[in-house]
Amino acid sequence: MNKKGKLIICSGPSGVGKGTIVRRYVEERGDVELSVSATTRGPRPGEEDGVHYHFLTQEQFRQRIDADGMLEYACFAGNYYGTPRDKVEQALAAGRDVILEIEVQGAMKVKEKCPGAVMVFIMPPSYAVLQKRLSGRGTEDEATVKRRLSAAAGEMEKARGYDFIVVNDDLEEAMADFAAVVAASKCSIEEMKYLIDEVQKDAQTSDDANP
Ligand code: 5GP
Repeated sequence: MNKKGKLIICSGPSGVGKGTIVRRYVEERGDVELSVSATTRGPRPGEEDGVHYHFLTQEQFRQRIDADGMLEYACFAGNYYGTPRDKVEQALAAGRDVILEIEVQGAMKVKEKCPGAVMVFIMPPSYAVLQKRLSGRGTEDEATVKRRLSAAAGEMEKARGYDFIVVNDDLEEAMADFAAVVAASKCSIEEMKYLIDEVQKDAQTSDDANP
């Protein structure tokens, strides 16, 4: 049987380190794809078009939505972000797992469309740690940092609706926990029912069961 891949949604406030966790997970596993989102925000130093994001104008973004090319999209801190549909659907159909690193509104929309998706929320160990990491990373100006910190409280409230929480205090531990919850979600009864059905069917039709 060609089993579909698992859709893994990863969210968390800006500065929590979710990007590092998912990128390392994808590198280490080698059999999982990370969806490249589209966004209307400008690239940060070091970010490449088509690698970190597809950087689009507002008009290009709107055209993608109108052509039903987005699995979900949302406005975050003044910019649009969306998941291109094609690549995700193709990978899942081919049996490959896909990770979406997306904010909470988009995550909820994906969960509605794809109930089998597992939702993992990355939390900081405290608000003070988040403030320090976000201000310290130096990739945004002060106003943007403030906007992202004020979004963080609302995002963390939404964590209550996720399947798993991973705390990123120590990166290695967070990596191990992330891998563990994804593995656990792939062994859930819901996920494995097909195998029980298959084995039972074979057992019923085998010569041993019908001597
Ligand atoms: P950043 O500007 O820091 O790269 O991303 C800002 C927020 O947008 C992060 O929470 C990130 O997870 C989220 N994000 C990135 N891509 C997508 C996407 O395709 N859809 C949605 N809904 N959020 C996204």
